[in-house]
Amino acid sequence: MKEISTSLAIIGAGASGGALALFASRLGISTVLIDKENFPRYKPCGCGVTDRALQLIDSSLPPERIHSAEFNDGNLKFKTSSPSPISVGTRESLDDHICREAISYGALFLQNENVLSVINSHEKVQISTVNYAINCKLLAVATGVKGNLPEELGFDKVKSIPALEEELAGNIETAFRFDFSAVKGGYGWSFPKSCGTSSIGVLTTLKGVNLSDALIKYKESLGLVGAKSVRINGHPIPVAPVKIFNVGRSIVIGDAAGLVDPLTFEGLYYSYYSAKLAAESFKQHLDNPEAACKQYGMKVKKEIIPELKLALILSKLVYRNPRFRKYLFSHYGQHLTNAITDVFSGKRKFRDELLKPSNYFQLLLKRL
Ligand SMILES: Cc1cc2nc3c(=O)[nH]c(=O)nc-3n(C[C@H](O)[C@H](O)[C@H](O)COP(=O)(O)OP(=O)(O)OC[C@H]3O[C@@H](n4cnc5c(N)ncnc54)[C@H](O)[C@@H]3O)c2cc1C
Repeated sequence: MKEISTSLAIIGAGASGGALALFASRLGISTVLIDKENFPRYKPCGCGVTDRALQLIDSSLPPERIHSAEFNDGNLKFKTSSPSPISVGTRESLDDHICREAISYGALFLQNENVLSVINSHEKVQISTVNYAINCKLLAVATGVKGNLPEELGFDKVKSIPALEEELAGNIETAFRFDFSAVKGGYGWSFPKSCGTSSIGVLTTLKGVNLSDALIKYKESLGLVGAKSVRINGHPIPVAPVKIFNVGRSIVIGDAAGLVDPLTFEGLYYSYYSAKLAAESFKQHLDNPEAACKQYGMKVKKEIIPELKLALILSKLVYRNPRFRKYLFSHYGQHLTNAITDVFSGKRKFRDELLKPSNYFQLLLKRL
């Protein structure tokens, strides 16, 4: 068993853990990143990366920009302006690229290391893997939505909804496509991937919906029944943030903290955002780990949670109320598409859009 001492240990090298390793090592914080898989590793994900996510990560990332995104509800169809605020990649290459960049700034990446136990006390944090005993001042838990480690450390269980993704051979669509009538209480998506395959999938916020049937029907509606399947995987997506973000010297980030937009189900942006807040808090209070973790928790509650709460209200209206959604789309569809384009581009936030009285006035004028 090899012993390592470091300022920061991160468990999980996905979008959030990899980004934190990159941000922290760029700031000169000694960092050890641990993952149970060998990288590059597969993760079910459409890997649509919005401009606001790219701006945060500020790295020479591999995703390719695509022409436009389409939001469809039956016969109602709306397009974002071109070029779209979304690029496509694959999670294998994206996460691997970010981890490699973290290594180039001095982070140590331990792959294929399952975490066996963690001691998180006021005095110290100690992580045991099969081959290492790691002592650190600060611990970030970035293990995603699966697994029990966050709960074992005193964090809440993440509420999630099911998604089913199939990767098909060939680029079937040239645009990013969301279909809100494809499945009850959710949407279907069809995204081209940068490796020349396509991600087709369905998710639902409702219980009792058979996603396998929904995916078959969705593929039928897109004329894809005979398309060659590369793989098919179910995977949960967080639907609400947890309540506690810091316990002692440890924090949760990304999916492990439930930080996914419950309206669009964009998770990469919030993975990177929570990683950025964590790195900044750690840099500021490196000599006082509990204060660093507390500051991170406060920043998440101030900067991220209000946006997610608003998205949660919208998501209930959109996914539980198809008639309301149809009304909204048929009267304000293009306006909403433009607003989402601006949100994805990082020009505006949902909050700015929804809490500005002049917007409602403009919408009313459009109706007159
Ligand atoms: C089907 C689907 C499609 C999606 N499409 C999009 C999209 O197009 N755009 C978007 O923005 N978001 C999308 N998301 C959401 C996005 O994938 C997640 O928000 C994102 O992956 C969260 O990153 P993370 O680092 O928190 O977790 P993950 O990416 O899940 O990474 C967690 C890592 O922790 C490791 N780990 C877990 N337990 C341990 C342990 N005990 N020891 C060591 N390592 C451990 C795992 O091996 C893994 O590498 C999608 C999600 C799904 C399910």
